[in-house]
Parts: sequence; structure tokens; C-alpha cells
Amino acid sequence: MQHVAVHLHRIVLFKHLGRWPGPALAHGLAGIEQLYRSKLKQSVHRFLEEEVALPSKNSPCPCGSKARFQRCCRNVVREGRGRLAEIRSLLARAAASRPSSPAKH
Ligand SMILES: [Zn+2]
Repeated sequence: MQHVAVHLHRIVLFKHLGRWPGPALAHGLAGIEQLYRSKLKQSVHRFLEEEVALPSKNSPCPCGSKARFQRCCRNVVREGRGRLAEIRSLLARAAASRPSSPAKH
């Protein structure tokens, strides 16, 4: 069933990129993370993690641009978090529907 998860992930990437993802991006969650990391400065990468609280809308953007977070990286960060959550739940669903592997003899 692993191929199903990879396929689902590629569909999501395709929807996002408008083209079939080539070998430039890794498979699975890692590829999505790479994609969003490539759009953000390194100092903002940690905000792609679900468990990291976002800066408030009006605080200075953590990327160092001196613009407000709201007007700078917030949309990309929120979109990235949403995509990552989406893929995680697709992967979890695919894993849940996977028949248990037969016992080895
Ligand atoms: Zn920024």
C-alpha cells in the first residue's frame, strides 16, 4: 500500500505545482517540506512544524524582512502547514487501510 500513499502525495503536489513533480523533490512528507522550505528563509522553517506556535499577525516577520508577519511569510507558512497536515492525514488513512502483513513462518 506504500505506493498508494506516494501516489496520493504526488496528486497533492501536482495540484499545487501545476505539473507532475519530478525527481527534484523527495517522496512523501519530505518532498512537501522541501517545497515549502525552498519558499521560505531558513529562520522561518521551524514555523512549518505543527507544534510550533505562529508569531502574531502584527509582529515582525521572523525572516528578518522588518515587515509584519501578516504581510510577509504568514500565508506561505499557513499554506505549508495545511498541506503538511493534509498529507499526514492521507498517509495515516492509507496506513490504517493497509491489511496487516501476514505472519512470517
Ligand atoms: Zn517574512
